[in-house]
Amino acid sequence: MKISKTEILKRLQDANIDNCIFVNLVNFSNEIILDVNISNPTLQAKKKAELEIKESLNSELSSGIKVKINFKKTSADKPIKKIESKKISGIKNIIAIASGKGGVGKSTVTSNLSVSLAKMGFKVGLLDADIYGPSIPIMFDIVDERPKSVLVDGKSKMEPVTNYGVKILSIGFFTKPDQAVIWRGPMASKALNQMIFDANWGELDFLVIDLPPGTGDIHLSILQALPITGAVIVSTPQNVALADAKKGVAMFKQELINVPVLGIVENMSYFTPEELPNNKYYLFGKDGAKNLAEDLKVPFLGCIPIEQSVREAGDFGRPVAMQEDTEVSKDLKVITRKIVAEVVKRNKDLPDSEAIKITTMAGCSAVNK
Ligand code: ADP
Repeated sequence: MKISKTEILKRLQDANIDNCIFVNLVNFSNEIILDVNISNPTLQAKKKAELEIKESLNSELSSGIKVKINFKKTSADKPIKKIESKKISGIKNIIAIASGKGGVGKSTVTSNLSVSLAKMGFKVGLLDADIYGPSIPIMFDIVDERPKSVLVDGKSKMEPVTNYGVKILSIGFFTKPDQAVIWRGPMASKALNQMIFDANWGELDFLVIDLPPGTGDIHLSILQALPITGAVIVSTPQNVALADAKKGVAMFKQELINVPVLGIVENMSYFTPEELPNNKYYLFGKDGAKNLAEDLKVPFLGCIPIEQSVREAGDFGRPVAMQEDTEVSKDLKVITRKIVAEVVKRNKDLPDSEAIKITTMAGCSAVNK
């Protein structure tokens, strides 16, 4: 009988094979083709990995199925280490926020989404995994804070720092703010591993993850390690950003990653001068991300204008979503509701959901799986 892709992936993950990340898998009735990124591509390491892979698929091999492995070397400055794949008890939904390009507002969307969710009454955690520039501590005014250690069931755990109702851990907590650190793959994996599995997150409706920009090995590590409910892609309407956003969507849709894309948020959509409140200037082009969402058949989650208050609120450390009834905070609320609705839909449609329950909120029905 043909083995399912999920079963193959599970076996490979359980085998915990060193130095390898499985990036693609094709499953024919008599042949399994695996694309594998390997950080140490010596003949010996490849042989060892091949043996371990074949061992984990032993029962299929003995029934005549062939396994073909294509090794690809990962770049030398990005050695990889798999984050251990475990379920995180008490966390109902994990939303990854990604962007193809840096500087398009991914962290701004992450911080505002987290605050909006908390304001709606959800229990929210935020994991800042942006190893290239963790900006969440600034955006939440917690630059000088550090997570404390607490004892949970006799085990020492890291207590997230809480502000505006959001529990936060950032890779930035592991460095001094004025100290530039280039996080190398294994170092970043270790720190992220601790922040994910050795932290006292408690019960959360949503854990929102601020991913690094782009589509690198660190993304693959995080995405393979965690039961991600869905991903949100942030892009500006500009062509260069859209091209990279498209790569981001493709990464999540890769067969072996297979994370549902909840949709695309368009940031910096237009500018409205205060003295001309009825005018919209489309500085980076009009409807670019909206059209991309249509092309890729993923939901469009809404627009955020380019506004001084958004930038100031971020720099000041009090996300603009904290404001009551400003136009932009209303936009963010609409986007947040759409994301929740997409999570609800996703949890209904897909059988393998890790998500359990979302409490009722206006506009969205409750799910209890
Ligand atoms: P990324 O996480 O994609 O690198 P950031 O969220 O850090 O991007 O945003 C980059 C800069 O742009 C920050 O200074 C932020 O305050 C600003 N910014 C983001 N979105 C907006 C917006 N809608 N209006 C004005 N400034 C914005």
